[in-house]
Amino acid sequence: MGLSPERTVAELRELQELTGDDDGAQRVAWTEAWEKGRSWLREEMAPTGAAEEIDEAGNQWFTLPGESDRALLIGGHMDSVPNGGRLDGCLNVLAGMEVVRRLAEEGTPPLTVRLVSWADEEGARFGRSLFGSSAAAGSMADQDDLRQRRDADAIALPDALAAYGVDLDGALAARRQLENAVAYLELHIEQGPVLESLDLPLGVVLGTFGVERHLVTFRGQAAHAGSTPMDQRRDALAGAAKLELEIREIAKRVGGGAVCTMGSVVTKPGIVTSVVETAECLLDQRHLDAAQLAEMLSNAEAASRKIAAEENIEVEWEKIWSIEPIPFDERLIELADESIVEVAGSSHRLPSGPLHDAAEVARAGIPTVMLFVQSLRGLSHTKLEDTKDEHLELSVQALDRLTTKALEAFA
Ligand SMILES: [Zn+2]
Repeated sequence: MGLSPERTVAELRELQELTGDDDGAQRVAWTEAWEKGRSWLREEMAPTGAAEEIDEAGNQWFTLPGESDRALLIGGHMDSVPNGGRLDGCLNVLAGMEVVRRLAEEGTPPLTVRLVSWADEEGARFGRSLFGSSAAAGSMADQDDLRQRRDADAIALPDALAAYGVDLDGALAARRQLENAVAYLELHIEQGPVLESLDLPLGVVLGTFGVERHLVTFRGQAAHAGSTPMDQRRDALAGAAKLELEIREIAKRVGGGAVCTMGSVVTKPGIVTSVVETAECLLDQRHLDAAQLAEMLSNAEAASRKIAAEENIEVEWEKIWSIEPIPFDERLIELADESIVEVAGSSHRLPSGPLHDAAEVARAGIPTVMLFVQSLRGLSHTKLEDTKDEHLELSVQALDRLTTKALEAFA
């Protein structure tokens, strides 16, 4: 019957009915609902003849042998956040399944085609995202930390994983899965408002943002709110307030899609009768270009020192976390662009703010690209997450075209 994007739309509803509830998707990794989703996928995939394998990190693979052992990978994640949306992660897998069905029907593809559902993309239960893909990519280096992690019910991560056959210490053996990989494709909902605002169904992802995350602490002097004249205050919150406004100007100046967020300011002593002595600000800066990200960071540091001098307070920076930008493959970006134009008339190139499993695969040196399909109202990680059926269908078609092009280009 060939490719059936309508079937994907119907299966997304079926999966939601099977593993979700009135509050949304409930396929949190390493839980029964997630396992139910994996079993469902196994049954749905059986008629294609693609052999199933669950690797050492819990990733679920389906392999359709081709004329060559070299493999084209299509991926996504069946796990969701609690009360999540019906599309995040599973659209990728279900669309990939439809493409594999079409290929299986047509015979033997020039390259081996492998569908992967990565284990625990969201990190919803233990706070560790991209678990399975980072193990396969070989970049997982936090086993000591992971050993100590516990969920809200005090169950240790290694015990939860063991219940699903995964030994934390052996997870990196999943690296062998990428040995024959020549390219990686992933379709995902955008989870943001850009495509909707452009009135476009689909876009090509250029890569994932680099992130610089810092704790910026301003220190002044606590003093009585009634007796301290305005010109004699050393108000730490004034520093935080000025910096919050300044980082917006810096992002505007640097441009190129720069985003920055002061997500939290904690003031001490935090009472109405005292000038603020310390203001601890959490700052998140992101950019697709490493040099421009570095420029944003140094501009923000310089601005904070200037502000501190103006307010007669001190400022201190502490890095919390950072990751470099991960650009996707230029050849695949071109093919993705062509595929989108063919099915939707016009395309758009955009960066991804959120990290994705695709970033881990790209980091491992495998040519990678992602397609985004429009998210209504830009919402995700909520049951309100949605995409028009017609756009979902176009996204399956675009992934299918891209698969055909990639099979030709990498064969
Ligand atoms: Zn996702």
